[in-house]
Amino acid sequence: MSVAEILNGKNGDVVTATPETLLVEVANTLAKHRIGALVVKDGAVVCGIISERDLVRHIASDGADALDQQVLKCMTKTVVSCQRTDTIDSVMEKMSTGRFRHLPVIEDGELLGIISIGDVGKRKIEQAERDAEDLKRYSAS
Ligand code: AMP
Repeated sequence: MSVAEILNGKNGDVVTATPETLLVEVANTLAKHRIGALVVKDGAVVCGIISERDLVRHIASDGADALDQQVLKCMTKTVVSCQRTDTIDSVMEKMSTGRFRHLPVIEDGELLGIISIGDVGKRKIEQAERDAEDLKRYSAS
């Protein structure tokens, strides 16, 4: 199963922020869309990612004033991404090695989508259910 198959089952919109977006706005956007991370774009270029964990860490160190600061101060600048042809197993490998739960899909510099650990887990469970059904049918025939 590939990243493209996961993307096909999702609304293609990726929720983004800019380096200048205030953290209070990030918190509101994450809550409104019920998501855990925003891809940060400077114009058309992906320049970072900010997740709920970054936000929590920043508030823990700077207090509530952190919310008035800009994304640039607490985003991760080196973004690990994947491509549509990548397998789910390779995505899982990247997430587990990097210890993060979000992977933007970027090709030729263009942001095409984002895969979360929730998307991957859902597909893995569906696959396991299909395999169990196949096995049941096979052993009954
Ligand atoms: P997460 O588990 O996705 O909430 O993220 C945990 C940490 O990894 C945060 O510091 C994020 O900014 C960072 N992070 C999340 N996704 C990525 C990614 N695809 N590439 C690089 N860093 C990431």
